[in-house]
Amino acid sequence: MVNQALLEEIAEGKVSYLVPTDYNRKGPGRRTGGVFYNRQMQFNRDVCISFIDAVCRKGCRILDAMGATGIRSARIAVETARDMDITCNDSSTEAVELMRLNFSRLGLDEVTVSRRRAQALLSEEHFDYIDIDPFGTPVSFIPSALLSARNRGVIAVTATDAAVLCGSARGALRRYLCRPLRAPFMHEIGLRCLAGYIVRMAASYDLAATPLLSYFADHYFRLYVRIERGTLKAERSLGMIGYAHHDPVSGERTVDRTPSSGAAGPLWIGPLHDRETLSGMHVREWFGTYVRMERQMKIWREECIAPPLHYSMDELASRLKISMPERDSLMDYLSSLFPVYRTHLDPKGIRTAATLREVEEAILKKYGGGRGAY
Ligand code: SAM
Repeated sequence: MVNQALLEEIAEGKVSYLVPTDYNRKGPGRRTGGVFYNRQMQFNRDVCISFIDAVCRKGCRILDAMGATGIRSARIAVETARDMDITCNDSSTEAVELMRLNFSRLGLDEVTVSRRRAQALLSEEHFDYIDIDPFGTPVSFIPSALLSARNRGVIAVTATDAAVLCGSARGALRRYLCRPLRAPFMHEIGLRCLAGYIVRMAASYDLAATPLLSYFADHYFRLYVRIERGTLKAERSLGMIGYAHHDPVSGERTVDRTPSSGAAGPLWIGPLHDRETLSGMHVREWFGTYVRMERQMKIWREECIAPPLHYSMDELASRLKISMPERDSLMDYLSSLFPVYRTHLDPKGIRTAATLREVEEAILKKYGGGRGAY
């Protein structure tokens, strides 16, 4: 039985919700009373609501495979415009009791509650949208999620083992079959490593996986991928698997289909987001992270057409030994010379197809004082 004395009511999105009293409002979430709630993941859930509203049609079968308190499912039921068939699952008895209590308070009788190992449930049923939000790595859930997804369905995956994906902790090769890279753009490598892993796993089942939205936020990576059946499509998706090369001396970076010694990969070298999906997503006025989401959406839209492997202004400043202007001024100036884009991966990051040498020469010319280029 849920001990209601250990619960407190919070508001998130359009729902009032009971969560364990000592959840941590700022830092990483805690598992008090066996049920997990992390206030900081509100951004993750706001994006999820907006994504589902844009992509999932009436009657879609939705699986919240690791529901914990069930707040994501409750918000999908209350905040999205269409009637959808939602299943909220968690392997923990306490979690299932708490989600039942909350759904009943909110009158959400239509949400199916399930207490299964997600892998078992996924191996038996098919869904149009599958949310995988585990503690740490999602790898043990990917094969069953891929096989459970209906044709043109979506898998949404959170990975909180960012240190592994970025190469600051060991294990990326073992876990994701991908060599990471310690470089100023390591978060981009981590994100592409995760996307590449899902695309390659999918291809092995004759499925094509295409990233629709991919981001890094706070301490985790999050990916929404479209799954399509077909050998040819699967083969074609592998065309976007490649390697990232970085010369630590010249600083130059490139992506390529073929590996070289020390290259990161195999990883996804295609677009991180799908422009059409993003244009269908709306930032709702009731979202707790409205301002943050508006800002991110603008940058994600910009990133859709931007080349991979960004430059960091801190890296440029330290290489050129000059102090940098604000990013907006620098981008205004550079955009008069070649196309430049922001990246959500670094508040001081710049994406461009220009080489590092071209970027540095341009910067030295304007901001280098007496220093000549190269
Ligand atoms: N999605 C939730 C949210 O938005 O608040 C948070 C999920 S929490 C990070 C991870 C949850 O996964 C825990 O509640 C845990 O009990 C559950 N879990 C762990 N292993 C599982 C498994 N194999 N199958 C189903 N649930 C699992």
